[in-house]
Amino acid sequence: MTAASDRAVFAVDIGGTKIAAAEVHGRHLLDRRQTATPRTGRGDDLVAAIAGLAPKHAVSAVAVATTGIVRDGALTALNPRTLPIENGYPLAKALETALGVPPLVVNDAQAAAWAEFTVGAGRGYRNFAFFTVSTGIGCGLVIDGRLQVGATGLAGHVGHTMSDPGGVICGCGRHGCLETIASGTALARRGSERLGRKVGAPDLFAAARQGDRIAAEVIASAVDALVNGFADLTAAVDIDCFAVGGGVGLAEGFIEALKVRSLQLPAVFQRPIVAAKAGADAGLLGVALLFDGNFHLK
Ligand SMILES: [Zn+2]
Repeated sequence: MTAASDRAVFAVDIGGTKIAAAEVHGRHLLDRRQTATPRTGRGDDLVAAIAGLAPKHAVSAVAVATTGIVRDGALTALNPRTLPIENGYPLAKALETALGVPPLVVNDAQAAAWAEFTVGAGRGYRNFAFFTVSTGIGCGLVIDGRLQVGATGLAGHVGHTMSDPGGVICGCGRHGCLETIASGTALARRGSERLGRKVGAPDLFAAARQGDRIAAEVIASAVDALVNGFADLTAAVDIDCFAVGGGVGLAEGFIEALKVRSLQLPAVFQRPIVAAKAGADAGLLGVALLFDGNFHLK
């Protein structure tokens, strides 16, 4: 019998701007390629784009990480601004029809958390949280060594816990979510409002480094919101370690700022905060590792 890791898994990561794919052998990504995400609101267009990335030879194993809520292989957008799609689009079923094998489909941050836990910054911990702070905020939780998906796929969507009562409306429909304060999109919006000119998150970090007090305040409020989010999560499920990735998360000085701010928390809520290590393709790797580990969603 062939060990699971000897077989290539065709792994796919569906994001709001691009779809990445690779053939994963064990822990190695081969033949990585990507295409722009069709933002048409139609799941069938996503499936066609994925079929276009599939290897020419027949695939025997397919694993898909995707933004959004995955329930029984069906995909629903939590924040339709990230990826518009029909509610409950039967992604697994449509991919099985297109590719000939039933795929494993998992939320992207959950898959990336599994990669970090297995081969990255979360190795050696039992209760681990991975946050990606990027265009949005994603999070995946591993509790007692098991990836948490939850009853409806929602586990770990900490970007949609409340940071600012009465704050602006979020794409998920609630007000003042962490994502509306601390994501790259939020930094760009809040920075532009405060500075009176259009800036992106990288501009804001550059301005702060050059001593701009307003830019530094906007970033500090994001840091504050994240650290309080970490403390809330620690109070709820007693996390051992937080790993942070994503374009904002890994921006120069950001993790250091999180660590410094966390030292102001009461000691009981303080936990290690470290940089993610599994890289930008953690979603691809994580979902392939879950496939090899015979991970089953409810
Ligand atoms: Zn939200």
